[in-house]
Amino acid sequence: MTKKVIKWIRPEIRQLSAYQVPDASGLTKLDAMENPYTLEPLTGNWPEVLAAAEINRYPDPSATELRHKLAQVMQVPEAAATMLGNGSDELIQMLAMAVSGKDHCIMSFDPGFVMYRMIAEFVGMDYVGVPLDDVFQIDMQATRAAIEKHQPAIIFIAYPNNPTGNLFDGTDIEEIIKTAPGLVVLDEAYHPFAQHSFMSKLKQYEQLLVMRTVSKMGLAGLRLGMLAGNPALIQEVDKVRLPYNINVLTQHAAISALEHIDLLDEQAAMIRSERKSLLQKLADIKGVEVFPSKANFILFRIVKGDAGVIFESIRNDGVLIKNMKADAGPLKQCLRVTVGKREENSKFTDALIKAL
Ligand code: PMP
Repeated sequence: MTKKVIKWIRPEIRQLSAYQVPDASGLTKLDAMENPYTLEPLTGNWPEVLAAAEINRYPDPSATELRHKLAQVMQVPEAAATMLGNGSDELIQMLAMAVSGKDHCIMSFDPGFVMYRMIAEFVGMDYVGVPLDDVFQIDMQATRAAIEKHQPAIIFIAYPNNPTGNLFDGTDIEEIIKTAPGLVVLDEAYHPFAQHSFMSKLKQYEQLLVMRTVSKMGLAGLRLGMLAGNPALIQEVDKVRLPYNINVLTQHAAISALEHIDLLDEQAAMIRSERKSLLQKLADIKGVEVFPSKANFILFRIVKGDAGVIFESIRNDGVLIKNMKADAGPLKQCLRVTVGKREENSKFTDALIKAL
């Protein structure tokens, strides 16, 4: 019976493995690029704020007040329009749905953010991942050739890139924007830690969209992402958005949280400072090759020993990081750690040194 039913699921979907989120109970959580600091000063009035939300009613379908607040905080140019997603993951999905069709493909870079590839598969599109060069920068020769050959409907550029953590060269990105036949999405999920942005370029390029999220700045639990760009383009993508995708509690809580953007900015500055210390500490550890980072995480390679064994040993010492699980290729023997509080980072480096 089950077999008979399962056969109706598309073969490409049956072949996929579900996105795995490991159990972090009891562990110091340095695997998912979350902000480690609590937000008490910011959430103190939430009982009243949330009690005022009319949960018997559907939320504002286009979350107008929240969009305006985000546009102000994220310095969206006045001429640009915005739309919101249940996390930026949902925005990626909406973009893919809006362009999917015969012979349309999604392009990005490898190693890159896995969701671009997964969502392309969900909507039945081809994914083209252009390999980055040895230092995880864009290989422009390969990119020019891939754009020419595949004519991608969308190019996603994570800026900084996940899982490598670096910022791509701005001149390369501008050349891509200028030569792309379709949409170019600058995914600035890690903007609070990079402080470089293409937001002001929206005025210049009608094919450019800039995507942000509140997840990394300390509000991952709310699930809220924003896409900004040319109003005519946003209007089209917005047609595939399900009504009421941003729930009423998220709308109220996010508006209230964004009133305290100074606190969130301060926390991002602390994370940037901890990143500097952690990068230095990792660089001093023998047996580890560390890659530069402009994000709130650091990619490093185990050059002596097995990354899987070391990952397990660190976990047994109570710290959960991310195992990139690559036996070959550019992420070979690589692990990724999120920058936490100072004491969490020390717990991690102690466990790493012990494991090596
Ligand atoms: N873009 C990039 C580059 C990411 O790394 C992530 C999260 N890991 C996201 C988008 C998705 O973020 P969210 O859905 O939490 O907004």
